[in-house]
Amino acid sequence: MTWGDTRPAGRQTSQGSLAQDVSRRFFEELELMEKVACVHCGQDWVRCYKRKDSGQIFFMCPECESLWPKEEDLRDETDMYLSEFLLTGDSVKDWEAIVPCDEPVALGDGD
Ligand SMILES: [Zn+2]
Repeated sequence: MTWGDTRPAGRQTSQGSLAQDVSRRFFEELELMEKVACVHCGQDWVRCYKRKDSGQIFFMCPECESLWPKEEDLRDETDMYLSEFLLTGDSVKDWEAIVPCDEPVALGDGD
């Protein structure tokens, strides 16, 4: 008689590490989500950027400067451009006013 052997064993101790696992996977998916080709020009990936002045995060195609606010779906059309978002009136200043998302910004720590 081997009826007792069908019970699964050792499956109840991993709940704590499972939660950590899930959150790590969440961030990995976030990074994967950045790999969305620009719906406007199709020439580059839409990437995450950040305003230096406010720290505000947004998404932009570096090729054509189409811009999506953070909460917008990158696969949808957008009618906003970097120049309209920043309103510096100077396309050179536009690029000086932003940094890629993964670079730290020292807010209120002007040089
Ligand atoms: Zn583009």
